[in-house]
Amino acid sequence: MSQKIGKVYLVGGGCGDPELLTLKGRRVLSQCDTVVYDALVNPALLEYVPADCERIYVGKRAAHHALPQEETNELLVKLGLEGKTVVRLKGGDPYVFGRGGEEGVRLHEAGVPFEEVPGITSVIGGLAYAGIPITHRDCASSFQVVTGHLKNDAAHLDWPVLAATKGTLVFLMGMKNIGIITAKLIENGMDPDTPAAVVREATTPRQQTVTGTLANIAETAKAAGLGAPALIVIGKVVGLRDELRFFDSRPLFGKCFVVTRSRAQASKLVAKIQDQGGEAVMYPTIRIQPVGSEMARLEKAIAHLGGYTHLILTSANGVDLFFQKLGDMGKDSRALAGLTVTAIGKATAAALKARGIVPDIVPARFIGEALVEALGPTLTAADRILLPRSKNARAYVAEKLSEICPVDEIKIYETLREDRTDVDVAAMLKAHQVDYITFTSSTTAKYFAEKIGEDCAAVVRDSGAKCASIGPKTSEQLKALGLPVDIQADTYTIDGLMAAIEEDCTKNH
Ligand code: SAH
Repeated sequence: MSQKIGKVYLVGGGCGDPELLTLKGRRVLSQCDTVVYDALVNPALLEYVPADCERIYVGKRAAHHALPQEETNELLVKLGLEGKTVVRLKGGDPYVFGRGGEEGVRLHEAGVPFEEVPGITSVIGGLAYAGIPITHRDCASSFQVVTGHLKNDAAHLDWPVLAATKGTLVFLMGMKNIGIITAKLIENGMDPDTPAAVVREATTPRQQTVTGTLANIAETAKAAGLGAPALIVIGKVVGLRDELRFFDSRPLFGKCFVVTRSRAQASKLVAKIQDQGGEAVMYPTIRIQPVGSEMARLEKAIAHLGGYTHLILTSANGVDLFFQKLGDMGKDSRALAGLTVTAIGKATAAALKARGIVPDIVPARFIGEALVEALGPTLTAADRILLPRSKNARAYVAEKLSEICPVDEIKIYETLREDRTDVDVAAMLKAHQVDYITFTSSTTAKYFAEKIGEDCAAVVRDSGAKCASIGPKTSEQLKALGLPVDIQADTYTIDGLMAAIEEDCTKNH
């Protein structure tokens, strides 16, 4: 019985920044049965594979060697012959010192169809993110990419030719031999004052660059503790870095942030941190759970929306759940026609606007007292208010307003502790890897402390990480837990929190 043969895609995943993956790379990842990947690949790229995709790691693990190349070749052949669609995912470009050529030849011999999907090699991408253009009309009209993995006393490289180049030299896999490489070039006549750089973990939040000259770069890199994976760049183009660096000059670059918001809500803060160059670690401490027993009341209220004069929404979560129910009942925002809509907080107002509703009233301050002040004087006993909100909310608003007119308060969701996590933040804190912990509500503070454990306050203090709070209520909770309040936002919003953090980073740069 003949079996259908599969196909292998040799895919370049780019050199670190997950957004450097090509569109074609993403498409084949999203369609594969098996992904075979190694150490230089950013694990974030695995998010694109289907949930049931088989993942095979063939790179080096702490104490273990990588799978030998021959075994990887045979694995790809076997998977292909089994009829699988396989992505062989590699760092940078598969054909740039990636042994993609060897894998392709073996697949060809075995009659397994394959395609190569080029990736952004570290040679180009890594240099660019360090602010080094690989060519420039004024100082480099060629470049050479050289292996720094030296065999037989480096005899296989043509040192006189390399030393005579007027272009840029880029050595990969060269950190072990950086002293020999620079010595050989000088010995063969290259100017010891030629600008040189070492770029480590390029395009990632951990990117590190040191610059110097051919004569001193080996020493300088060693003194800075730079090891593999790194690029060694030699040539005048290195001198352009001061003008062209953009990646490691962003305000939050090199800083690690723990984000404690719920998974569903974290994305905005995460995007802002990343945009400013920081590394965001998602550590959700809360999750939003609709209160099932209240849904019948909400349905009834929505079915009789005409009986209300006012709708008050106090959080973006509330807006989401309210509109979800509205949609489930076959209705849309037109059902709100005629109601006076009030929103507490900018995020709530924004969530409403996203649904086509511009709130009539948004109190100046984002707390219950301000709402009662703003709305109270406009109400009469003939009004009727629908107030769908959190079970955890304070009773204040409902109590005050019901002194004036009937208020139907429906506790549609509650905030619970999120116990599912992918990262060990306690270990990161103990290893002094965290610079800031962001708290966007008092509940995130409370559950953060519970998740880290009894000694949370001591762990955080010893770690040197700073606690950044979105506002006074959150700060109060942090203090009650024995946690420091190093930063508090002036405006109690995500943007306000980001502004306060940026100011702190710039101050302490
Ligand atoms: N195919 C890869 C290169 C594989 S060889 C590519 O196209 O980039 C492995 C070497 O690549 C490392 O030793 C290092 O010299 C270089 N390298 C790969 N990714 C890198 C990165 N993000 N930063 C610095 N060097 C990197």
